[in-house]
Amino acid sequence: MSNNLFVLSGPSGSGKNTVYNGVAALIPEIEKTVSATTRAPREGEIDGVDYYFIPVKEFEKKIRADEFVEFVKYGDNYYGTLRSEIKRLADIGKIAVLIIEVRGALNVKRVFPESESIFILPPSIDVLRERILGRGQNTEEETEKRLRIAEQEMLEKEKYDHRVINDDLEVCVNEVADIIRKGVKKK
Ligand code: 5GP
Repeated sequence: MSNNLFVLSGPSGSGKNTVYNGVAALIPEIEKTVSATTRAPREGEIDGVDYYFIPVKEFEKKIRADEFVEFVKYGDNYYGTLRSEIKRLADIGKIAVLIIEVRGALNVKRVFPESESIFILPPSIDVLRERILGRGQNTEEETEKRLRIAEQEMLEKEKYDHRVINDDLEVCVNEVADIIRKGVKKK
């Protein structure tokens, strides 16, 4: 079940979701797991597509019921990958891609050692700041919090199987697609 599992991680603002979308256009066999979160939906986000948006009480109930492969408290909210999501994708023969932050990514590696982890690096911290600010979705305080987390997250990059810099999006997408194609072939 865990054979075809890839983890795409990196700091908020590294562009990992955009990179995933580019890779998914090249490799239709991949599909992302939909995470559960207690964060409020942003404009345009759809429940069950972008996330399963659930209240804190329900999230904590799922933690107690051991329904998560991994979960973290990130900022003021919980985020987690449900076991049922991995199963859902395995059942339909998809290659699962988890797009998650760094602590969760390292936990997945512990649960599924044969999974492959990819760290998406921003070209610099300044670019990261611009990207997080450019989104206009976070308050100044949240942006600062995300940047502080990002700096910590960058220290973990050596623990990943692969590192790819997201400077030129197309180059980055092709590199990640190559890693996944090679990884799938091995299995
Ligand atoms: P955002 O609030 O910007 O959607 O997500 C904040 C951070 O949480 C991002 O780095 C995102 O990749 C990460 N994240 C989303 N879902 C999960 C998950 O299920 N587990 C973990 N560990 N991180 C997640």
